[in-house]
Amino acid sequence: MTEITPAPQDRHAGQKLPAISFEFFPPKTEEMERSLWETIKRLAPLEPSFVSVTYGAGGSTRERTHSTITRILSETSLLPAAHLTCVGASRGEIDDIVGRYYDAGVRHIVALRGDPSGGIGTAYTTHPDGYRTSADLVAGIKRQHGDIEVSVSAYPEKHPESRDFDADIDMLKAKVDAGAARAITQVFFDNDLYFRYLDRVRARGIEIPIVPGIMPMHNFKQARAFVTRAGTTVPNWLAEKFEGLDDDPETRKLVAATVAAGQVQKLAKHGIDTFHFYTMNRADLVFAISHLLGIRPNGAQKAA
Ligand code: FAD
Repeated sequence: MTEITPAPQDRHAGQKLPAISFEFFPPKTEEMERSLWETIKRLAPLEPSFVSVTYGAGGSTRERTHSTITRILSETSLLPAAHLTCVGASRGEIDDIVGRYYDAGVRHIVALRGDPSGGIGTAYTTHPDGYRTSADLVAGIKRQHGDIEVSVSAYPEKHPESRDFDADIDMLKAKVDAGAARAITQVFFDNDLYFRYLDRVRARGIEIPIVPGIMPMHNFKQARAFVTRAGTTVPNWLAEKFEGLDDDPETRKLVAATVAAGQVQKLAKHGIDTFHFYTMNRADLVFAISHLLGIRPNGAQKAA
């Protein structure tokens, strides 16, 4: 594999390296918890800008997201970002969650509308006393605690519910106007889609970072089903790379690392200097891809 030329950004004094962040999901079982913490211990020395923890559909992981976040705060020096959605809760309940996070020391929330409680593809209904949109949620968080940094979502292929790109970017603009500092994209595999989206966003006068969300596909079949439901196109060339590997996890892993490293490398060559990794709570591929970006444990970075 070819060496990646790090993009120009001062991540550590004197170094020109990309900034990275990692996304985890809250574990369901003790075994998953042990495995997540092994992952966190392996990735923490890479000194990500932040690590985020998702919020299950319909708020189903409210307590588990909270306890994962507070454990990260108490046992590591990582900066956690808590995902939060508007689904199935009143404004008062959401404000209480934000208040609890604030009191625990959390200063970064990823604010989302969330999927319809009936599942993706069904009609979205707002809770009668709830926040109506993700932009309302951003505004609510900022009203409560102006010093909480808020990140939001962005959709290079537009959100499946968006009428068109204009409607999609209108929502992004509303979120930025409400105080969002950064957008993290839905997974995408075709970099051209991201660059076209970036052009549209910048043309609309939106200047916040639009951080590419990168997902190394540990299990191609499972991941394809999951991302397709969320509106991400899986190109044929990508599916072909995994053909015949259903019973060969070792080769699949190498292919997945090569594909994701290639994607990140091309983005970096075009000046993208910040990446968010959907880790699926696994360290190996993300660690390898970060290594290829020149990122080494505890600041021992490869000179640019
Ligand atoms: P928004 O940005 O609010 O909306 C996306 C687009 O959909 C808008 O541009 C708008 O055009 C359109 N739209 C929104 N509402 C309507 C409507 N009522 N009618 C017509 N069009 C509409 N989900 C979780 O449950 N938990 C998580 O932790 C989580 N984390 C995520 C992190 C990232 C980085 C991303 C990209 C997604 C995440 N999601 C998560 C998924 C997200 O909740 C869903 O995609 C959801 O359907 C939209 O929420 P949003 O805040 O992204 O959408």
